Amino acid sequence: MNEIIVVIDSLAPSFCYYNSKKNSNYEILEFKKFSKYVDIVVENGYNLTICHGAILPCEYEEKIMNLKTLTRIVPNSLFDRYYNNSNVVLSLSVDEIFEVDKKLVSYDLQRCVILRYSSANISQISNSVFQLLRVTKRICLFCEDSFLENKDELNMYKSELEKISHVLNNEKQIGKLTEINVITDPWFCETSQYCLAGNESITIMFNSKAYICPAFFYDDANNYINLDDIQYINELQILCSEEKQFACLECKNIQCKRCKFISKKKTEELNIPPYELCAQSMLEYNISQLLK
Ligand code: SF4
Repeated sequence: MNEIIVVIDSLAPSFCYYNSKKNSNYEILEFKKFSKYVDIVVENGYNLTICHGAILPCEYEEKIMNLKTLTRIVPNSLFDRYYNNSNVVLSLSVDEIFEVDKKLVSYDLQRCVILRYSSANISQISNSVFQLLRVTKRICLFCEDSFLENKDELNMYKSELEKISHVLNNEKQIGKLTEINVITDPWFCETSQYCLAGNESITIMFNSKAYICPAFFYDDANNYINLDDIQYINELQILCSEEKQFACLECKNIQCKRCKFISKKKTEELNIPPYELCAQSMLEYNISQLLK
């Protein structure tokens, strides 16, 4: 393991294939526990990723002030506080795209923006992406419903990606190509971008329990990992390693995340992807091949 992700409060935005399902009760990880996790990060030389949706109390900020290996994921509502920091990732929904201050986002042209959509707003994907072209280095598109359920949704998604790929072709020709995980990763990444949650990273949620990733918590808070059970942790790490993703090793689809949460949800196995995941990933792969 080399990364600890801490979702500090209940207002934190999602950053992968899940919906953070905010409820009105604001909860925050106890400072004593947060402090302990930061100490573990420092002692072991891990990377720390924090994700929060409300302004952090001073003691939390002081605790991480000198950390060199920190990534912070925040919603648009907090972005103006952190935009001049290069390790900050903005997570926003396509519904919020016109609230974004593009000047602030482009302050650091190496930035990554997480762009979330759901089955209800698939038709907004391409226009939202166009708003962010040349404003950010990389856009990571994630479906908050985890995966698209039916043919109509997939067709709508395909049409949105086709629109994006046409524009990207022009951008590419003039050397202005913005990375978009589901389309351009075969062009920019030499190896697969598969998920290694549970193997290389572990997530601590604001209830101070550990999970493979936040998706498991939001699905069922009882899915936690007992951090005191070293044998179980070791077994989980092996199970979540690339070698165990045997069902996918022959697949040429480099940009598929091989999401363990979706696999577990649909097939009861962390490493057996369901039809829905493969269908969406293959669609993305085929679109990526339209880039000349
Ligand atoms: S299992 Fe991996 S890809 Fe799936 S939601 Fe969790 S972190 Fe993201």
